[in-house]
Amino acid sequence: MSLEKRKGRPVYLDNHATTPLDERVVEAMMPFFGEKFGNPHSGSHFYGWEAAEAVEVARGQIADAIGADASEIYFTSGATEANNLAIKGVARFYREKKNHIITCVSEHMCVLDTCFQMEKEGNRVTYLKVDQNGLFDLDELQKAICEDTILISIMTVQNEIGLIQPMAEIGAMAAEHKVLLHSDAAQALGKIPLDVKAMNINLMSITGHKVYGPMGLGALYVSNKPRVRLEPVFNGGGQEKNLRSGTLPPPLCVGFGKTCELAVTEMPTEAKSLEKMRDDLLERLTTKLDGIHINGSMENRVSGNLNISIEDVDAESLMAALPDLAMSSGSACTSASEESSYVLKAIGLSNEMAEASLRIGLGRFNTEDEVDYAAERLIDEITNVREGRKSLSGNAAE
Ligand SMILES: *Cc1c(COP(=O)(O)O)cnc(C)c1O
Repeated sequence: MSLEKRKGRPVYLDNHATTPLDERVVEAMMPFFGEKFGNPHSGSHFYGWEAAEAVEVARGQIADAIGADASEIYFTSGATEANNLAIKGVARFYREKKNHIITCVSEHMCVLDTCFQMEKEGNRVTYLKVDQNGLFDLDELQKAICEDTILISIMTVQNEIGLIQPMAEIGAMAAEHKVLLHSDAAQALGKIPLDVKAMNINLMSITGHKVYGPMGLGALYVSNKPRVRLEPVFNGGGQEKNLRSGTLPPPLCVGFGKTCELAVTEMPTEAKSLEKMRDDLLERLTTKLDGIHINGSMENRVSGNLNISIEDVDAESLMAALPDLAMSSGSACTSASEESSYVLKAIGLSNEMAEASLRIGLGRFNTEDEVDYAAERLIDEITNVREGRKSLSGNAAE
């Protein structure tokens, strides 16, 4: 597809960072930005009841998408807040009885940073190391569990390399030792089937904007059985059964509910078509170019994810040469921190290979034409960059 046809806007290939809103979600939300403006916590009149009823329908849709009961869903502002609430909530509530937490070095920073904070407050935290595929050794997890362990926090799908963790196995181990299991499933919802009961997950964080839903709304699932107790992070009006004070935003709740309903219905066909596009793209790149390294494992990987390092190419310069493609990199300059991706380093990449990495995230609204165009442009520019380098180093030698 030509740039003209896309009205000059770049092809969006960064669906792990956020996703475009699905029009069906927008449609579901609109009335709640208009005449249905009530505060869902207003119990004394029609406007409040109308909003509250819509919020409860959404809660049911969200619960259904992960195999939970509606009474186990607590709205939050997103996965960052849900992760904070889960980890801080459990750590603080149970600290006097049990104070050990187990997590993994390749978790999202909002999990790791929360764990660092819990260490400051007196918890002991074990950070499991990962192999080149991004997997930790289940025996290491087993060995790390002790009398004092209250919580294991492991993400269902990794946001850089798309790795799917064996949550059911981890869950079985956690249940056997009566340790609570939390999972950040922000990148898993709508990508793989989720069933918190079958997976023995006690707490799960999800968010709308990674699944074609609104930014600014997510949820924490907290199991009723076994009953998990949490210390709230916000104090206030006692909404969400005292766990998360603050007025709920009905437009966003309704949007997230619709998002979850669509996630379930679209998943089977969507996953297949994304996998095909992803594999085609990879094949074209590796057929035309040498020195393309896949980061992470191609098995146990969500279908829209591709993460590669391109030998002799600085990803930053490559992306600058490709303003018509929106992608991301594990290089230092594109991240909020000063360092290149700690996840890529954890799976064994050198600084140089991390700086040469590209993350391509395909999503619901990408077309084969777009992927075709992206493959062509990538091949051209990578070749250009490499030839430029060669002639530069040739000159230097003269
Ligand atoms: C995006 C993301 C988050 C943060 O979610 P927000 O809703 O933006 O706060 C947390 N964990 C993972 C794995 C993510 O991909």
